[in-house]
Amino acid sequence: MHPELKAHPAYFKKEIVQLADNVYQAFGFAASNVYMIIGDDGLIIVDTTETTAAATNILAEFRKITTLPVKTIILTHSHRDHVSGASVFAGDDAPEIITSDISSEDPLLEDTSHPRATKAMQARTKRQFGIGLSYPDEIIGIGVGPGDRPLQGMGAGMLPPTRLISAARTSITLAGVDLELVMAPGETPDHMVVWYPEKKVLISGDNFYRSFPNLYAIRGTAYREFDVWADTMDLLMEFAPEVLGPGHTKAVFGADAIRDVLTDYRDAIRHVVTETRAGMDAGLTIDQLAHSVKLPPELAEKPHLREYYGSVAYAVRAYFVGTMGWFDGNPTSLCTLSPQDEATRMIRLAGGAEALWAEIEAARSAGDHQWALQLIDRLIHADMDADRARAAKAAVLRDHAVGQINCPTRHYYIQSAKELEQQLDDGDS
Ligand SMILES: [Zn+2]
Repeated sequence: MHPELKAHPAYFKKEIVQLADNVYQAFGFAASNVYMIIGDDGLIIVDTTETTAAATNILAEFRKITTLPVKTIILTHSHRDHVSGASVFAGDDAPEIITSDISSEDPLLEDTSHPRATKAMQARTKRQFGIGLSYPDEIIGIGVGPGDRPLQGMGAGMLPPTRLISAARTSITLAGVDLELVMAPGETPDHMVVWYPEKKVLISGDNFYRSFPNLYAIRGTAYREFDVWADTMDLLMEFAPEVLGPGHTKAVFGADAIRDVLTDYRDAIRHVVTETRAGMDAGLTIDQLAHSVKLPPELAEKPHLREYYGSVAYAVRAYFVGTMGWFDGNPTSLCTLSPQDEATRMIRLAGGAEALWAEIEAARSAGDHQWALQLIDRLIHADMDADRARAAKAAVLRDHAVGQINCPTRHYYIQSAKELEQQLDDGDS
């Protein structure tokens, strides 16, 4: 395991954190955080986490602090890891449920008349989040959340909104507490953050967390608007918050510290955009840019920009595809050989399958996992020694996972290895 990930179980230790005299954060109980604001005659819950099991555990902790009823649930955005415990917090209190009226990241997913490849997305989601991997050997955390957390009731407790917010900024008084709901598109277009001016607390959803931002999710997401996300960092800074409560990872305290992290976040996104765009203008391809565009070291070393969750290379690819489409600009790439045809010819050129195996073994011995994978895929595509190649691929993926700092990548490798091993066991390869 990457040495930096070994520190994550201690970082994500469960805790109820008091952010202000009447504002609490439930941290480390689930992938995402839950916030409780205590009003005069009731509670405001902001985000409800990923499972009914985690929500039950969190509510039990909140009930040690107050017995007031839940008056309102505010959801910062529609991602399942923030909306799936709503029924637990609602209980019998029949709270108002407030969301933005902006459509979610991919509304077409719900559109049965125009179906998307949901089976593929489900398989990839399982791989990205390492759902079913064993803690702590296979999954130590998701990069922005803990690995040892209950998974029962995932997606089970969603409730429909009772009130939709459409204005850019809405002042609202809930249980005697004056708040402002602010549209803040970033990780998703439907993001709505909660500003509590009297206490200078900003609950910011997933527009900031302690990791390089997930500008592309390998589970398969549509283009996330990079420039809009960067602009939103400026919007959040305008409030000059003294407490920043993110959707994942720990709260940040102090106006200066918050301004610094939001500035770094904005600058990191802008850097990726500027460098990728300049490279595209210079005629570089998507693969070249995924390797050449890096964060400046002073940003790359910041704890809140480590690639625990988002990845710079994946962001570069997403910006390219999101703004230019799949064609990389190289005429050779327009009508490439089929993978099977290309692999067959390359293996012949290399001197046959045994020559390839020798190179694969040499690469494995040298820890050159990626080269080994790319060679193995040629054998699979050409259907030469395919079962042996699949078994080797599973082993290399497990080796390759060890060095990854990016948790989605780590999980994707391990889960894919398990799927290959299962296929071979079932004999259905
Ligand atoms: Zn989230």
